Amino acid sequence: VIECNRVYDALLAEHGRQQWWPADERFEILVGALLVQRTAWRNVETAIVELKRRELLDAAILACTPVAVIEECVRRTGFFRAKASRLTKLARFVVAMGGLAALDAMPTATLRRLLLDLDGIGPETADAILLYAFDRPVVVVDTYLRRLARRLAGGDSELADTELRAWVGESIGETPALSELHALVVAHGKAFCRKEPLCNECPMQASCRSAVSVSDP
Ligand code: SF4
Repeated sequence: VIECNRVYDALLAEHGRQQWWPADERFEILVGALLVQRTAWRNVETAIVELKRRELLDAAILACTPVAVIEECVRRTGFFRAKASRLTKLARFVVAMGGLAALDAMPTATLRRLLLDLDGIGPETADAILLYAFDRPVVVVDTYLRRLARRLAGGDSELADTELRAWVGESIGETPALSELHALVVAHGKAFCRKEPLCNECPMQASCRSAVSVSDP
């Protein structure tokens, strides 16, 4: 199978730097990671603009903001009642733990466990938070990475998450490159390696074992 750093180089050449995670400060990344579940980023942006406009994008302030007010801000992100409730719990968690600096001082495994205990935070969201908000060198395993790796390898079934982490980790270990890789894989999954892939236009075509040509039967 093609090494992950070669995939990284090809995707970077095709898509350019993605400048993730777009946020002014760290708490905004946590909020965005929670809100982006099952919705488009533009809806998250709308919610974050509204939270900022009302001066609520601060853990201590959000923690004691009535949930109905948060619901109004995040309405466009879908599942807004659940997401507003989760934001309240997230903010209270940050405050209870002593703030973001206290969380930042924790070992990655401890912090990951605490994040996973929170309502609405699964492995993908926890790892995105660890990577982008806390600069930890973790691999974010999402649908796009699973699909891309499976197709590149030419297999019928998904690789296990541990195999995916190993494949990435063998050639990419530093936080900045892992941050860029995740963003590039998402960009590539949206542009080319979709459910119905656009292989003819894909820069990975020559090294992908699942590449199909439009001239194929
Ligand atoms: S060649 Fe096709 S299947 Fe392979 S990575 Fe590109 S779009 Fe995906």
